[in-house]
Amino acid sequence: MLPGEAAPEIPSDSATVTGVEPASSADDRSRLQVAMLQTENAILERPLICKVCNSAPVRELYLPCGHLDSCSECTKALDNCPTCCAQIRATVKIFFA
Ligand SMILES: [Zn+2]
Ligand SMILES: [Zn+2]
Repeated sequence: MLPGEAAPEIPSDSATVTGVEPASSADDRSRLQVAMLQTENAILERPLICKVCNSAPVRELYLPCGHLDSCSECTKALDNCPTCCAQIRATVKIFFA
């Protein structure tokens, strides 16, 4: 080091400002995650029951609307979705693992 040369000074408090997030956005994100988990739990805990016969578990998903409303037996007799009245063009069998 030459005489008279000063070591560069780093202002200690301006170096630590980056990386601070507004508290509200982190809050919203965790609230959304909680809501999603609660929805998932509700689906897992309460098996869907056919809305037509009210006894058998739901086994068919309607296309294209995507609603889950009826068991395999009742789906055969349906032309339209009981929830949104959309025409059922195809059905997909669903299985809960
Ligand atoms: Zn049924
Ligand atoms: Zn529907």
